[in-house]
Amino acid sequence: MTNSKVGPSDQNSNSDPIPKQEWYKDGLKFSCSQCGNCCTGGPGAVWYTEQEGREMAVALGLTHEEFTAKYTRAIANRRSLNESQTPHGFDCVFLDRTSQPGRALCGVYTARPAQCRTWPFWPENLETPRAWKAAKAKTPCLGMDNGTLYPIEQIRILRERDRADNQSAPW
Ligand code: SF4
Ligand code: SF4
Repeated sequence: MTNSKVGPSDQNSNSDPIPKQEWYKDGLKFSCSQCGNCCTGGPGAVWYTEQEGREMAVALGLTHEEFTAKYTRAIANRRSLNESQTPHGFDCVFLDRTSQPGRALCGVYTARPAQCRTWPFWPENLETPRAWKAAKAKTPCLGMDNGTLYPIEQIRILRERDRADNQSAPW
């Protein structure tokens, strides 16, 4: 997939230093249209921490062991949610395209991993205006540059949360 999921070559991209110039100091617009494009695409990964796994298990009414066995897989020293191949691409296992026709919903929305909560304000997307536009086009994410204005303070929180999530200890 293209964004919330990340491809193998993207796995370490969030370790870049904090950008010196915040070109988005006046904020950025973003409102999700629930198209689901960020939860599908090519083969990739939806990383999550052990604590996030426990929270998703609770949300699904499963034990952590059941959740891990049924919905996740190990990639190197991290764990990812599974994906399933559909006509749309490699959908995250929790992408729900049937409950509301025309919409793609997250089946663990209230407990979704930080990787998903912080999209599209990932460090690599914020490096330059060009990177932002590229992420928007590649996904494609119609929510970027539309709708709600996120002030710089909120963008910083999301950006740094994603960075910290990517630097968290493997488990
Ligand atoms: S609008 Fe963007 S964030 Fe929302 S589901 Fe589509 S691609 Fe993902
Ligand atoms: S956990 Fe939810 S938001 Fe994250 S990739 Fe899967 S369906 Fe999308």
